[in-house]
Amino acid sequence: MVALRYRLAGLDAGEFGERFREPVEELVELLDGAAPGYRRCVWAVQDERSREWIAKAVPLVKAHEAELSQRLSRYFGEPFPQSSTPVAVVHYGTWYGANTVTRPHHIMIGAGDPQNQGHSALEVVFHEVSHTMVSPRNGAVARALASAATETGLEVPRGLWHGVLFYTAGQVVRQAFSQAGVRDFVSFYEEVLPRAWPTFLGPLESEWQLYLDGKIGMDEAARRLVTQTSQPAKESPQ
Ligand SMILES: [Zn+2]
Repeated sequence: MVALRYRLAGLDAGEFGERFREPVEELVELLDGAAPGYRRCVWAVQDERSREWIAKAVPLVKAHEAELSQRLSRYFGEPFPQSSTPVAVVHYGTWYGANTVTRPHHIMIGAGDPQNQGHSALEVVFHEVSHTMVSPRNGAVARALASAATETGLEVPRGLWHGVLFYTAGQVVRQAFSQAGVRDFVSFYEEVLPRAWPTFLGPLESEWQLYLDGKIGMDEAARRLVTQTSQPAKESPQ
């Protein structure tokens, strides 16, 4: 699927693309066969909706990208992508609204997804581009979590790196909106973390936030996160 995606986006995936060339070309042929019906029945409406989404998202991105890219790069300890990263705005992205593949980088965002509308358009763009800087095994965040685990003898909980990404990108976008006078913005992390990773939320808000505020370093924040999230969840008082 990733090789097919690169092929459809016209990106050179090098050796990886070459390895899957044959099945990908077979799929492209099948898609070409289905294209006329798709174009006739649904394309016009979906394309219009995607273009409307782009028209609303671009001014938001332009207004905030200088500050957001600089802050995210600083917090994640990794360079922001130097060249522009292609973003495919499509009607159906994935079941969770958007995703990103890296090297080469390609972001896909579902313009028809209710969660990507309004101010959330800015967050989805910067959440997704953050995936080029934060991942389970590569980058400064992954390294800090891994050394914290070695040091403490604990395991890094699955998905903690993604909780860090959700929280950091959400907070940075929220602050940008707050400075611009937007008060009713709800970040993805406020909706996703309590549902998907309830035990990450408290430690992110207390410990990782200290790192974002410049009060402790990333290594110390990672140590506290691993220590607090690896322990079995305490019984909730209610
Ligand atoms: Zn993500």
